[in-house]
Amino acid sequence: MQTSVVVFTCDLRVSDHPPLRAALRGGGRVVPLFVRDPAVDAAGFAAPNRLAFLADCLRDLDARLRERGGQLVLREGDTVTEVCRLAAEADADEVHMAGDVSAFAHAREQRLRPALEGDGRRLYVHDTVSTAVAPGAVTPASSDHFAVFTPYYRRWSEQGLREVLDAPRSITVPEEVGSAPLPERAGVSGVSPGLCAGGETEGRRRLTAWLRSGVDAYVERHDDLAGDATSRLSPHLHFGTLSPVEVVHRARRTGGSGAEAFVRQIAWRDFNRQVLAARPDAATHDYRTRRDRWRGGRDAEADAEAWRAGRTGYPVVDAAMRQLRHEGWMHNRGRLLAASFLTKTLYVDWRVGARHFLDLLVDGDVANNQLNWQWMAGTGTDTRPNRVLNPVVQGKRYDPDGAYVRRWVEELTGVEGADVHEPWKRPARERAGIGYPEPVVSLAEGLDRFRRARARS
Ligand code: FAD
Repeated sequence: MQTSVVVFTCDLRVSDHPPLRAALRGGGRVVPLFVRDPAVDAAGFAAPNRLAFLADCLRDLDARLRERGGQLVLREGDTVTEVCRLAAEADADEVHMAGDVSAFAHAREQRLRPALEGDGRRLYVHDTVSTAVAPGAVTPASSDHFAVFTPYYRRWSEQGLREVLDAPRSITVPEEVGSAPLPERAGVSGVSPGLCAGGETEGRRRLTAWLRSGVDAYVERHDDLAGDATSRLSPHLHFGTLSPVEVVHRARRTGGSGAEAFVRQIAWRDFNRQVLAARPDAATHDYRTRRDRWRGGRDAEADAEAWRAGRTGYPVVDAAMRQLRHEGWMHNRGRLLAASFLTKTLYVDWRVGARHFLDLLVDGDVANNQLNWQWMAGTGTDTRPNRVLNPVVQGKRYDPDGAYVRRWVEELTGVEGADVHEPWKRPARERAGIGYPEPVVSLAEGLDRFRRARARS
């Protein structure tokens, strides 16, 4: 009987899982494997919020495999060594896993393939596990990837998606393979108090609820900071507890402009992944250099620290930064404002901000995080690289009665309405009493500094 190993990475589900279905095709035995690799932690991909969410995901995946007669096997160590060792223990013929786009994932695959082949085993890498459309499946005439979203989206929309694969009914795991104990969420320290729950079961519940009662209003409400009316599916898409192919199919079936706009965001996710697949260095280097000489030194570090702490004196930016710390998640409009403020108003390197986001975001993702940071810094794919978002104007527009600010900035809970976005207009005596900081820099000064810097470059 044939035996296969399925290596789970960022695809922690049993539904719509091409590697698992391919491994089961011959009716043979399957070892579902997850490797906790210290190199992932060392590369900065592991952070408490993601480790806690991961623990939920692994336990739920194990439970869903057990319902089908299987179980998850967890090993700790170098992925290549552990996959080869387990494949030998189980006398496996082949190994299946999902394709991925980061430099780390490329290097892992490049080491794994020859190591397995040297032992007479084959590695099958499956696409459309972590994206709806595979990176490189659509390309412009003159390049290996799209650098502009709109033409990409046109081609992306024309692609026929593969069918959704049902979760397997039964799985047989060889008896002789043992597993390390699965991690527990409670065992992770430094987790944000408001962190959401992980796991495929929770992801599917959220998706169903979202498609039933959230997506229709997406066009009108997605930028409403206080309304919190986006799907919050990003951690599930990041960890692959939901399949992007299935999400797109199911969203399209609901019809309507809300679903269409939501699917467009999934295309943004694929867009960033095809950029990173073609330019893995974009995780750390400017995609398009503007020859910035970012501010450094003690003043810049003090400004960055005020930004991290949610104490810049700009209420909507501070609210967003405090939401990030409390929930390990931030509304997209908040992310845009926080990133514009750091890179343009404070003129601090986008990598400083991206690092802080990766330290806290439960959906922290190399492709989406680094490329969105670059987009906002103007070193990425934005066709208007020098746009600067004004936090007062944007605050009044996307948080018109100030409810979002009051939710997260407790010093300002007593200030009513849109006035909350301009606390410096309150009388000095009142300001001294509330303990909310004065602005770290005036918007005019920040704008002027940024424009001068970009004009020089
Ligand atoms: P929805 O609005 O419901 O969108 C549905 C899905 O589409 C999201 O779950 C996400 O997978 C995808 N999506 C939405 N917006 C974008 C976008 N701008 N780019 C790419 N994909 C998108 N997203 C991450 O998943 N991980 C990150 O680390 C990340 N870092 C970001 C950093 C900055 C500076 C900015 C501006 C954006 C970042 N985003 C990131 C994109 C976006 O903010 C989040 O995906 C979104 O806020 C998640 O909330 P949601 O699931 O409710 O999104």
